[in-house]
Amino acid sequence: MPNVEAQNCSVRGRLAPSPTGLMHLGNAWSFLLAWLAARAAGGQVVLRLEDIDPERSRREFADDILRDLRWLGLDWDEGPDAPGPVGPYEQGLRLERYAAALDELTSAGRIYPCFCTRKELRQLASAPHAPQGKAAGLAGDGSPAYPGACRELSVQDCAELLRQGRRPALRLRCDDTAIGFDDLVAGQQHMTLAECGGDFAVRRSDGVFAYQLAVVLDDIAMGITQVVRGDDILTSTPRQIFLYRLLGAQPPQYAHLPLVLDHEGERLAKRHQSLTLAELREAGVPAQAITGYLAWRAGLLDSPRPCVPQDLVNGFAFASIPAAAVRLPGDIARVLRELG
Ligand code: GLU
Repeated sequence: MPNVEAQNCSVRGRLAPSPTGLMHLGNAWSFLLAWLAARAAGGQVVLRLEDIDPERSRREFADDILRDLRWLGLDWDEGPDAPGPVGPYEQGLRLERYAAALDELTSAGRIYPCFCTRKELRQLASAPHAPQGKAAGLAGDGSPAYPGACRELSVQDCAELLRQGRRPALRLRCDDTAIGFDDLVAGQQHMTLAECGGDFAVRRSDGVFAYQLAVVLDDIAMGITQVVRGDDILTSTPRQIFLYRLLGAQPPQYAHLPLVLDHEGERLAKRHQSLTLAELREAGVPAQAITGYLAWRAGLLDSPRPCVPQDLVNGFAFASIPAAAVRLPGDIARVLRELG
C-alpha cells in the first residue's frame, strides 16, 4: 500500500549541516531520517550549509560532510554543488538577506540592544529573582535564559554603554505568548517563549547573525515545508515559530528526533572521534551497515541488515521512530563491521 504521505508532492525537506566538525553517527541518524521523510513523501531535498559562525565553520568540514552524505547514499535536489533558484545554499553568502530582515524587525520595534556579557547573563540566570522552572535553565541553544535586563534601557543608557566601548548583541522582543505545535515525532508541544529562554539574540555582539534568525529566513526563502532535526533544538522551535509569525510566513511541519547517545549516555560530540563516519569507514565499516543499523534503531527494520537509504523509502513512517534517546553499544564499530 502506498504511504499516505506519498500523496503530498509539495514536501520540501532540508539537510542543514553546520560545518564545524566531522559528521558522526548522530548526524547520520538525523540526516538519514530527514532525507527519508522527504523522499517518502515524494518531496525534494535541499542541502544548506549552516556556516553562519565564521569562527567555528571550516571549508574542509563542509567538503567532508558532503562527501560523507554521498557515501551514505543520500542525495539532494539543490545545494552548494547543485545550484537552484533559491540559492546561494551557504549561509555565509546570505548575510545581506539577514541584515534586511533585521532592519524590518527593527522598524517594527522588535529589536533592542543588549549589553550583557555571557558572565553577566549566567549571574542573572542564577540570581534568586531569576525565573524558576524550565525558564531557569538553559535556553535551547545552550545560552542562559534571558531575564530581560536590557529590555527597557533608555537611549541615554545605551549611549553611555556604547561610549564605554561595549558592543551590544541584538535581541528580539518576544511576546508573553504560549506557542503550540504538533510535532511529527515528539507529539503535541506547548511552551511559552519565556520557558524557551525569553527574548533571544538575533545578532551576536561580534556582529554574527544568530542561528535562530538565519535558519528561519532561509527556510522561508527556500520554501522548506518539513524540518526534521534533533530534539536538542526543540526549545528553539517556539522561538522560530514566533519569528515566522512576525515575518508573516507559514511555519513548516516539525519532526524532532531523539538524540543518539554513546554507551555512557552522553550525546555525541567532537571528542567522539571514533564515531565519525570518516573513522568508521577507515575501520572497514561499509555505509550500508550504518544505514541498516540506524534504520533498525529507528524502527524501520525488524533487525539490522545492510541496506541503502533508497531501500527504506517505501517503509518510512514517523510513527515507528522511538521517543527515547538511542544509546549506542560500547562496541558499535565492531557491531557495524560485522553487520557489513
Ligand atoms: N545546523 C544545525 C545543526 O547542525 C541544524 C539546525 C536545524 O536543523 O534547524 O545542528
